[in-house]
Amino acid sequence: MTDLEPLFVRAARAAAEHRRAVPDRPVVTGVPAEEVRAAFAGPLPDGPTDPDGVLDRLLEAAPPGITGTVGPRFFGFVIGGALPAASAADILTIGWDQPAYNETLSPAAGAAERAAGSWAKELLGLPAGASAAFVTGAQAGNTVGLAIGRNEVLARAGWDVARDGLWSAPRVHVVAGEERHATVDRALRLLGMGTGSLHPVRADANGAIDVEDLATTLAGLEGRPTIVCLQAGNVNTGACDDFAAAIPVARAHDAWVHVDGAFGLWAAASPRHAHLTRGVGDADSWGADAHKWLNVPYDSGLAFCRDPEAHARAMSYTAAYLTGSGGTAHVLGDVTPESSRRARGFAVWAALLELGRDGVAALVDRSCAQARRMAERLEAGGATIRNEVVLNQVLVGFDEVADVDALVESVQQEGTCWVGATTWRGSRLIRVAVSNATTTDDDIDRSADAILAAARRLSG
Ligand SMILES: *Cc1c(COP(=O)(O)O)cnc(C)c1O
Repeated sequence: MTDLEPLFVRAARAAAEHRRAVPDRPVVTGVPAEEVRAAFAGPLPDGPTDPDGVLDRLLEAAPPGITGTVGPRFFGFVIGGALPAASAADILTIGWDQPAYNETLSPAAGAAERAAGSWAKELLGLPAGASAAFVTGAQAGNTVGLAIGRNEVLARAGWDVARDGLWSAPRVHVVAGEERHATVDRALRLLGMGTGSLHPVRADANGAIDVEDLATTLAGLEGRPTIVCLQAGNVNTGACDDFAAAIPVARAHDAWVHVDGAFGLWAAASPRHAHLTRGVGDADSWGADAHKWLNVPYDSGLAFCRDPEAHARAMSYTAAYLTGSGGTAHVLGDVTPESSRRARGFAVWAALLELGRDGVAALVDRSCAQARRMAERLEAGGATIRNEVVLNQVLVGFDEVADVDALVESVQQEGTCWVGATTWRGSRLIRVAVSNATTTDDDIDRSADAILAAARRLSG
């Protein structure tokens, strides 16, 4: 039997070296993508390569194409970092290689998901009795939540979609804010409801759903099978819907309420920011990320459902050979869309243990304070902040810079930080998302300076 220790230690050492170096290196390497591709390409060899030789090749080929997304000055998309214990837990997860399908296969994977799921529900203000599924991200979390909702509202209309499919089913209407995340639309496509089922509801200036328009839209549907999809954390502005107002309205129309809480739901874990998600626990299902704001390595997300039976009805399956599945436990593969998968719960459990309740709150508060700091410094340097910075997202415009995409590219190439561009209410803007646990105030200041310098280069 090969002793894996030297190989594993070598891989772990290289990973740790990347983490050590990432705060000081440019966020992008500047090596052209074609060069990176060429380093991986070539004919498939006929014979084997010894594992050390494979690692040699990988450590040569990959680093020129590794973006410093895990570093403290990556502000694109909503990219969290990866906490030390959570990263180490993921390394162990690979070492153990447990298929997290059921608790017969892996009692520990099930136990970790039960514990981490309970902790997450507590932090996020969700009902203690809700189910928790460990999925790949918020896309999967939204897909699972909307699948459960679809099945339940159709069941109330007397239709068994699990058996009879959607062909002759009553139409399911999906009511969501016009500033919903695009993953909701993809989920509707995947689930056979189609984007034509959407009834977009007006959003306010910061992107939160207009509850009056929600009420009008729901009234117009006259009791037809309906899912309302709300949002905690707009991907551009960070705005959270007013759950305390919106959920009772949806309930009055017997709608299923799903919340896309990808990153914003974590605001609930901070006493200082929990007002943004007040009432969110009254929904029926929730999707959230662990790999964004909780700083768990990719891929890691959560899907919760108030009614674990409904969750399992939508997701579970069993077969004669699958000892230990399809029971009443509602963990692991009974609630996820995948069958075999890696034991994602270990890393989430490790992240929550590493931070503790106060640590998660501090992470949320620090990111939000740093977003405000970024906004203030950019504004002082002549930028216009185009959103209300309620959470960790900042939208930035410069009156004197016409080509925002060129500005963003210039910032990215300079390498101090990485920001993306977005279109918000018809304007092309810089978008800054702060969600890395290692980001310091100094990182914010250096990044703001780099953005301002780029704006000066491009102005006029
Ligand atoms: C990122 C995001 C998603 C998708 O999450 P993934 O983890 O990328 O699948 C969905 N909704 C919102 C609001 C997001 O920010």
